[in-house]
Amino acid sequence: MTPSLIIVGTVALDDVKTPFGQVKNALGGSAFFAGISASYWTNVGVMAIVGPDYPSRGFETMKDRGIDVAGIEVSKEPSFHWSGEYGFDLSSAKTLKTDLNCLLSFNPDIAGVYPSVHTLFLANIDPEIQKKVIDDLPARPEIIALDTMNFWIENKREALLDVLGLVDILTINEGEARMLSGESNLISAARTISAMGPQILIIKRGEYGAMVFNRGKIFLSPAYPLESLKDPTGAGDSFAGGFLGYMASEGGKDDDTLRRGIIVGSVMASFCVSEFSSAGMENLSPLALEARLCEFSEQTNYRPVSPVFRMLGG
Ligand code: AMP
Repeated sequence: MTPSLIIVGTVALDDVKTPFGQVKNALGGSAFFAGISASYWTNVGVMAIVGPDYPSRGFETMKDRGIDVAGIEVSKEPSFHWSGEYGFDLSSAKTLKTDLNCLLSFNPDIAGVYPSVHTLFLANIDPEIQKKVIDDLPARPEIIALDTMNFWIENKREALLDVLGLVDILTINEGEARMLSGESNLISAARTISAMGPQILIIKRGEYGAMVFNRGKIFLSPAYPLESLKDPTGAGDSFAGGFLGYMASEGGKDDDTLRRGIIVGSVMASFCVSEFSSAGMENLSPLALEARLCEFSEQTNYRPVSPVFRMLGG
């Protein structure tokens, strides 16, 4: 049976340094983080490419979460490798090195592996690959979401604009929304980006949460307040994975489902950043998930303020 959510993106080895420690060749990649996060909500298939250096524990970690890895190709070239560093301000990574390696020859045959897809997440990867995946599918998925980053906005802007015209949902971080739109104000940026194609735009703002623009409506979600945060790598991908896993499990993209999905994404991202790599998200108990979801609902809930004003001078 085809999983309800198919994620195409990177499965990588990461070197990461934060003020709280460092790891080398840690499991990472946009599709990896999104897949682990989404797997708590729906059936997931990951399509990616890795090299002979990719450790079996990477496959095991995904399989342990029930992820279908039939679409992960093992090439002769080394795995995609990313090195990044964070200062005390953990809001954005400084990329030290991006070795594309086997990604340069990635040519996913989505129709061969999953001929019919309900929800497609084109996680952060070369926009030319993202477009090819959509073009290769015999029928358009119900929901197509896409994520990207500064690397592709700078290096493959035209290809990115081409694929943006074909998607329903774009998730992007605050700085990248400004870079893509050329606008400093986020509302103006959202208007400019929506005109590029995606009806739904989710701007990820790290510890400040997410802003959602859905056909003229705005929804705001804070981030779950965490005291201990070790490694923000994968937060955006885990957010998107949780969000889309929930959307896929509900089967729709109405505003109400979308809002709850954003809350799910925020909660999943909070687990991700609590440990290095995917360790914070690998073995979540239903109890731990439910407790945090309840706590977050409590923290964000209020009854509408009744319109009783104190007017002066009247
Ligand atoms: P984020 O959710 O934005 O923190 O994503 C972190 C993950 O993105 C890391 O595990 C990297 O392996 C992966 N990554 C970094 N640069 C790129 C890139 N240019 N394309 C695709 N994935 C990337």
